[in-house]
Amino acid sequence: MLSASGVRELYPSPPASGDLPAVRRRPPEAVARAIGPREACGVCGVYGAPDPGSPGGGAAAKVHLGLYALQHRGQESAGVVASDGRGVQSRKGLGLLSEAIRERDIGDLPGHLAIGHVRYSTTGSGRVQNIQPLVVEYAGGLLAVAHNGNLTNARALRRRYEERGAIFQTSTDSEVIVHLMADPAYRARPDALACALGELAGAYAFVFLTPERLMAARDPHGFRPLCLGRLGRGWVVASETCALDQLGAQYGGEVEPGELVTIGPEGIERGSFAERPGRRAHCIFEHIYFARPDSEVFGESVHSVREALGRRLAADAPADADIVIAVPDSGRSAAMGYAAGSGLPLERGFIRNHYVGRTFIMDGADARSSSVELKLNVVRRVVAGRRVVVVDDSIVRGNTARSRLGLLRRAGAREIHLRVSCPPIRHPCYYGIDFPTREELIAANRSVEEIRDFIGVETLAYQTVEGLLSAVARPEDYCTACFTGEYPVTVGEDMTKRAMERS
Ligand code: SF4
Repeated sequence: MLSASGVRELYPSPPASGDLPAVRRRPPEAVARAIGPREACGVCGVYGAPDPGSPGGGAAAKVHLGLYALQHRGQESAGVVASDGRGVQSRKGLGLLSEAIRERDIGDLPGHLAIGHVRYSTTGSGRVQNIQPLVVEYAGGLLAVAHNGNLTNARALRRRYEERGAIFQTSTDSEVIVHLMADPAYRARPDALACALGELAGAYAFVFLTPERLMAARDPHGFRPLCLGRLGRGWVVASETCALDQLGAQYGGEVEPGELVTIGPEGIERGSFAERPGRRAHCIFEHIYFARPDSEVFGESVHSVREALGRRLAADAPADADIVIAVPDSGRSAAMGYAAGSGLPLERGFIRNHYVGRTFIMDGADARSSSVELKLNVVRRVVAGRRVVVVDDSIVRGNTARSRLGLLRRAGAREIHLRVSCPPIRHPCYYGIDFPTREELIAANRSVEEIRDFIGVETLAYQTVEGLLSAVARPEDYCTACFTGEYPVTVGEDMTKRAMERS
């Protein structure tokens, strides 16, 4: 458990918003484990780990290990930046973590603090210069930045600084925080980072590194998850608790929405940098699809939420069928819930090849459709001649579902009843999930019956918005904009993925 001792307010809460809510403290055994592999960006930071020569390695090796647990959140590139208090070194590369950074290249990175990032681009393409953490030297010193989320005012901020002559090195939204920090209006202030964060809009979970300190911050709505853990006498921050488990760290609650955590030689300092908005807006899609089922995000077990979604779906959309199967991996927990709720046996009808990248987060429609058959195969003896309920987490473009269920039909399934554990996705996401245009969303352009016909199944039923919200403990704390069109944060001009690219 986190000790409250040594924690002091760096940036006192504004009087109008009051103190931050008490941080939820959970015993480590309450952190749900299990379920095998899984899959926005993932960030991790470690402070206070021993030097590389000690057992288990230094901070860089620990961050590297933590990123393995977060690989499902980004497969385009990976990076680790470490500091020993005097100098900063980095290792970066394209592809999966194992391809981007080799073990032998990380083991000798010196330092007791490090941050890392696995990337799935929501702004900017998968170019080498977009690999994070970004490392810059400016008048305030050396700074490394890793970001998960999407800044809705990044384009306007970028234009502001470009008109003043600033040169941007990347086409990502994340880089604007660096220019805000370097702004003469802020950089001499002791609370420069808090001021810079206060200018940002949209979704962000940041980790920052200076030669002496690790910082972590989360946007005031709390769109993306970010948790804190204790590792011996050191500290860990990570996108999901599965990274804490990987490192053997004790869960210490969330970095709260609107909170800035600074960890340095003087200990840990926590405080709010912004007034709390009227409501939180945690991304409910983290529970539906992105987060690993063995993680707790937003204070809730991902597996338990998915299972509850399946149970609700079984009650609302029963099917006259013989068996229930899941689309692995993210549909598994919901399929368990559907089977339990319906009384139908749960069987394994699909086998996933784990050595092929996750289709949803591959860059480009062609790459997505061509990898479906590489990823899944059907267990013929399970499905042939039977009426099968297939539980999937979501339908985005529809092509992937059509390909998968075509495999099932060719394997001899007599009837296919598709049950989707989230409602129809009809609106783009501007807060860090890659389905940004309405044209790409099948449910924005077709009725449920038309989608059923396109996919080629006997029946199709989606979760209702009410059913979705019934699965989480505090429904008022969640964003559901991609289903309802009710956006919690105003959206800037061009929010397409490559809005900041010139070539
Ligand atoms: Fe998540 Fe949908 Fe909200 Fe985007 S719009 S943050 S995917 S719930």
